Amino acid sequence: MADSNGPQKDWYSILSANPSDDIQEIKQKYQKLILVFHPDKQKPGLSGGEAEQLLQKFIDVDQAWKILSDERSRKEYDLQLRACELKQSWPVDAHVTLDEMNWNADTECYTYSCRCGGEFILDQEDTQEAETVVCCDSCSLSIEVQKEDHTQGMPIFLLSN
Ligand SMILES: [Zn+2]
Repeated sequence: MADSNGPQKDWYSILSANPSDDIQEIKQKYQKLILVFHPDKQKPGLSGGEAEQLLQKFIDVDQAWKILSDERSRKEYDLQLRACELKQSWPVDAHVTLDEMNWNADTECYTYSCRCGGEFILDQEDTQEAETVVCCDSCSLSIEVQKEDHTQGMPIFLLSN
């Protein structure tokens, strides 16, 4: 009874796993959980609702493993996940303009320091958009980069030199 209209389930958190876990780690977590939620392992005397919840978890864990254990479907899911995260759930830490970023001629990238010590890296070819979101390379923060500086609100003819 999968809810096909709802958002895609978070298969990693269903297995208490991380997207960076390798297949062995995920397998161990799956094997542990599938035993916990297996219908044969449930205590007698569960209410119908509890039993149903556990069964749903069992189904989810099983489904998560099917998706994440297959290299191709995992890759596909990772891509969906990333696209989804980029669109909505990254906390935007700052709004900066391209001018405020540091240009690195060697890598042809703009960089900006994150407060975690990591870096936001923006390829030059990704600067075509008027506004783009860049994720930190070591934490979950992101910044919104604007091509032009609109924050001054000053008509261009007033800017001397
Ligand atoms: Zn960071």
